[in-house]
Amino acid sequence: MPELPEVETTRKGIQPKVDQQTITAFVIRDGRLRWPVETHLQNTLPGLVVLSVQRRGKYILLNTQKGTLLIHLGMSGNLRVLPTDTEVQKHDHIDIEFANGYLLRLNDPRRFGSVLWHDVSLGPVENHKLLAKLAPEPLTDDFNGAYFYEKTRNRKVAIKTLVMNSHVVVGAGNIYANESLFMSRIHPQTQASLLTQKQCDLLVENIKSVLIAAIKQGGTTLKDFLSPDGKPGYFVQQLKVYGQAGQPCQTCSTPIERIMLNQRATYFCSQCQPFIKPKPPSAQKSR
Ligand SMILES: [Zn+2]
Repeated sequence: MPELPEVETTRKGIQPKVDQQTITAFVIRDGRLRWPVETHLQNTLPGLVVLSVQRRGKYILLNTQKGTLLIHLGMSGNLRVLPTDTEVQKHDHIDIEFANGYLLRLNDPRRFGSVLWHDVSLGPVENHKLLAKLAPEPLTDDFNGAYFYEKTRNRKVAIKTLVMNSHVVVGAGNIYANESLFMSRIHPQTQASLLTQKQCDLLVENIKSVLIAAIKQGGTTLKDFLSPDGKPGYFVQQLKVYGQAGQPCQTCSTPIERIMLNQRATYFCSQCQPFIKPKPPSAQKSR
């Protein structure tokens, strides 16, 4: 599933050929995505200029004079910039053609992606119901140790589950949650409320750095966005725990363990990330 770094890599990859370009056609080959693609867009979009290419959470936003197109890659989607005459392949559902001779093509085998329209008459795109309740972006100053510490108070949920909660922070997907907890020496099953301010500061710092590293690596394959057969620039990172079950920990050589937590594969080193048991309720009462 494309996660925040892949979406940011995609945004950066398409921007040079899409930003400030006039849309000449919007082609719907199969509009049965997660939500049906509005057919009026075939008439609404031509003639409009893409004023900016932004991202909020995992949505790519193409802003025009009349409104914003929100594109989500779902489970299996990818966006590529191609010459307009590029042959159509299986699962190429949507094209946005531009006056510069390029088109933006959404390929999505599983069709969980979405292409949605937010008309300018409805106010800023931030008001869109899918964006309005999104938590802070992880790479902004709004996501900081003090904010995160406050979010962990009175929360009995496992810290990894809280990190992945998009109401707390957007875009810290499973890989990044696993890696940042390892870097912070925090066991993924630790009850969130047991974390100290210091641990929260460290975890926030590591979530940011693992995402920045992933975006950087994604950026090295940007040329793929311009090749018709190119895979999207999904990064291949040097992962320390994710997918490493049974392999020796890079720090202490203890075999990495794998468990399921909230139905997601969870990897950790039991030596580097010791589990801190919550106090039983009776012990808390007696104090
Ligand atoms: Zn270790």
